[in-house]
Amino acid sequence: MKCIAVTPGIKGSARLIEAEKPRVDKDRLLVRVRRVGIDGTDIDINQGLYGKAPEGKRELILGHESIGGIEEMGEEVKNFKLGDLVVATVRRPCEEDCLNCHHGESDMCLTGHFKERGINGLDGYLSEYYTEVSEFLVKVPDDLEEVAVLLEPFSIVEKGIFQTFKIQERMLWEPKKVLVLGAGSIGLLAALICRLKGLAVFLLARKELEGVRAEIVTRTGMTYLRDDISFERIRSMHGEMDIILEGTGFSPLAFHSLPVLHANGSMCLLGIPVGSHTVTINGSQLFSKMVLGNQVLFGSVNANRKYFEMGLEEMRKIENQYPGLLAKLITQRLAMADFKKAFEPYPGHIKTVVEME
Ligand SMILES: [Zn+2]
Repeated sequence: MKCIAVTPGIKGSARLIEAEKPRVDKDRLLVRVRRVGIDGTDIDINQGLYGKAPEGKRELILGHESIGGIEEMGEEVKNFKLGDLVVATVRRPCEEDCLNCHHGESDMCLTGHFKERGINGLDGYLSEYYTEVSEFLVKVPDDLEEVAVLLEPFSIVEKGIFQTFKIQERMLWEPKKVLVLGAGSIGLLAALICRLKGLAVFLLARKELEGVRAEIVTRTGMTYLRDDISFERIRSMHGEMDIILEGTGFSPLAFHSLPVLHANGSMCLLGIPVGSHTVTINGSQLFSKMVLGNQVLFGSVNANRKYFEMGLEEMRKIENQYPGLLAKLITQRLAMADFKKAFEPYPGHIKTVVEME
């Protein structure tokens, strides 16, 4: 079978390879992959900045955002049938004495020794086939087939927003305004989910407002802010924000936005920084605003299957409210032979997918 693999640590090593088609036994299922989304992590892995091959191997098959159909099942598999559409989760629990991994929360792993398919120690889904046990496969309704390749990034956002509201159960809280930093796929999905919750959404982005981004902002009634606006100006024009969701991974932007967080507000960091940035802030001023304002700043990574399942429900709501909008986030579709274009920037980029069939 054909797959796209890298040699971790080697820049630009992504290549098409032939590998042996995996076989099912007992509790494993064989999934025929339909399409795979590419994100910043895949690009970083191909840059040689990140990623780890499975033990004893030099190559790592890429890909962690996928949708596929069940083609074969081991004799012990229950609750699935041939042809079922599935999205696989990414992280696999560590094998140590870890409270969270032992209870289905590998996204909250305490040891850091988890593995991640297509990223860290396990082959991914940029492959004609993969096998997996049912525990890590989430069934997708047929009518969400086209957009379900977005479910993995969706699950990340779903977790961040769910946990924001969970943490805020510490008090009476009626959020009205949210500032979303970044209009990539994470930022746009976060902004869409917040609009569905009836929040006023302020979307801050470096890019010009055009194309699909313009359509999303206009159709859903968000306010677009270009990132050359200062946070003082945002505060004087729009007031303070009850929630800030950070989706860029650019630490200066994240820390400089904190002064617009309202009393009792919560900021969730979702973007993973690449490179090194020093931030100069007035620590005492920030510290005192956080203490006197009962504020929360927290990070959120990855997602367990609960958030994939919640993400599907949210996807359906978005499809009902704004038909066809989610599919437009897929701004480039490539055949497997053209996969190299997935690592190159292009105007209007939101999500590139590789079509495997
Ligand atoms: Zn663990």
